[in-house]
Amino acid sequence: MKCQRAIAQSIASLDKTMNRVSVRTHQRKEFVDITRSVADCAERSGIKHGLCVIFVPHTTCGLTINENADPAVVSDILHTLEKIVPEHGNYRHTEGNSDAHIQSSMTGHSLVIILENGHLQLGTWQGIFLCEFDGPRTREVWIHCIKGG
Ligand code: ZN
Repeated sequence: MKCQRAIAQSIASLDKTMNRVSVRTHQRKEFVDITRSVADCAERSGIKHGLCVIFVPHTTCGLTINENADPAVVSDILHTLEKIVPEHGNYRHTEGNSDAHIQSSMTGHSLVIILENGHLQLGTWQGIFLCEFDGPRTREVWIHCIKGG
């Protein structure tokens, strides 16, 4: 909860439809629930019906939608990703964070969510997560809402 408040406070509005949110991560690998921040940005855009595009401009973190009710789900996802792509392997990239690059490509860097009546159309158990794979760092999330017909 402390983290969520920090995220909400760090939102800097650039214009009516584009927002950049700073997210401070605290561990090498963790998922940060950014649902509230994205919903706030979507609301502030003033767009009632359309699409909300979320993007992270990084190569060692990603975005995903999954259950935010039981934290064991996120823990299971992280554990499984680490099993599939271990930190230490026969990698050629010399920076030492190849696992993070690969996991970031596995989750992807963008999401599109339908906006109806100014609200993100997420399922009951769905939350939006920034997936940190090489933290702790300060990450940026770009949120752009597009008006639909
Ligand atoms: Zn690297």
